[in-house]
Amino acid sequence: MSERTRRFETIAIQSGEVPEDQTGAVTTPIHLSTTYRVAYPGDDSGYVYSRSANPTRRALESTLAALENGKHGFAFASGLAAVSTALHLLKSGDHIVASSDLYGGTHRQFDKVLRKFGLDFTFVDGRDPSDFEKAVTDRTTLFWIETPSNPLLRLINIAAVSGIGRQRGILTVVDNTFATPYIQQPLGLGADVVMHSASKYLAGHCDVIGGALVTSSDELGEKIGFHQNALGAMLGPFESWLVLRGLKTLSLRMERHSYNASRIASYLSEQDSVSSVMFPGHDNESLPNGMKLPGGMVSFELNVDFEAVKTFACATRVFVLAESLGGVESLINHPASMTHASVPPDIRKQNGIGDGLIRLSVGTEHIDDLLDDLEGAFKVLRATVTRDRP
Ligand SMILES: *Cc1c(COP(=O)(O)O)cnc(C)c1O
Repeated sequence: MSERTRRFETIAIQSGEVPEDQTGAVTTPIHLSTTYRVAYPGDDSGYVYSRSANPTRRALESTLAALENGKHGFAFASGLAAVSTALHLLKSGDHIVASSDLYGGTHRQFDKVLRKFGLDFTFVDGRDPSDFEKAVTDRTTLFWIETPSNPLLRLINIAAVSGIGRQRGILTVVDNTFATPYIQQPLGLGADVVMHSASKYLAGHCDVIGGALVTSSDELGEKIGFHQNALGAMLGPFESWLVLRGLKTLSLRMERHSYNASRIASYLSEQDSVSSVMFPGHDNESLPNGMKLPGGMVSFELNVDFEAVKTFACATRVFVLAESLGGVESLINHPASMTHASVPPDIRKQNGIGDGLIRLSVGTEHIDDLLDDLEGAFKVLRATVTRDRP
């Protein structure tokens, strides 16, 4: 049976190309060698040098490509290294339209680093796809979307935006970190490139920093491969192995993350001190992009003052106060002072990231322990608020 006909769960476990028959090892070995014997001067028919290609990284890259239903996968040293490599496909003078609710580090790279090299950016809400159309100039070459977005979990119609791009020869890149390919596959909806922070759900255990790009286009694959090698921000063999190992349980984890997060979103919407809950599919919102599940991220707005918000963020015991997301362990984050502190305050406010916003990365622990933990934190919050305002 060819790989194409296999299903997601099977590909995730078995697609890692096992590079040698010597030992019969069932899992992919970690190939640390930086260099490889060649048959004659100039022979580049196999592995030559590990920056250009490494068997362990290749195993991960082919698995990522298969899981995203694409043809060419590339693994990078971080999600931001993947972003940077993707943007190097452009040239000075090009204009990019990006959705405004973006991972803070992506926003910082666009605004503070790439602008210096003559790239120009316009940020749009994007929930109405015509926002992208309206922002197009004769120099626009790229649309950049994050859906669900970070931290407001906004949803953008991938097919509509990439359709607008395709008509005008504009490429669309989708940051698929929050959904993962188990939940949505942007290439099938018309996106040209999918980007990931593999540090999150793909690896899934908060123990590796990595990133990825996947495309179905041979031309883009060729260009990305060239830039991966030329810029040199590729993923190391050990990290590649960790991500490959994480991928084997991706489907199981996403099911449990989504179940736990759905239960928590319902619980939060019943709390007096919560003014809004952000969660894909909440309040009968329909899930676009063929999303199979809502995922494990839940954000919510506390209608209390900043001090009380801080008290709440420090009051959980199972949810650990920490940046990042997508691991089996539950994390609580205050975007305005943590993950999105690098976004200028005025832009943060304008984009709807207030001081009362809390973002949860709901892990795969027992749901009752997670609910008990939040209940405890709300008790602390109520005590604080009553003490302050008798
Ligand atoms: C974390 C993250 C990134 C950046 O990835 P790193 O691996 O931290 O460099 C990009 N996009 C999203 C949505 C993220 O959550």
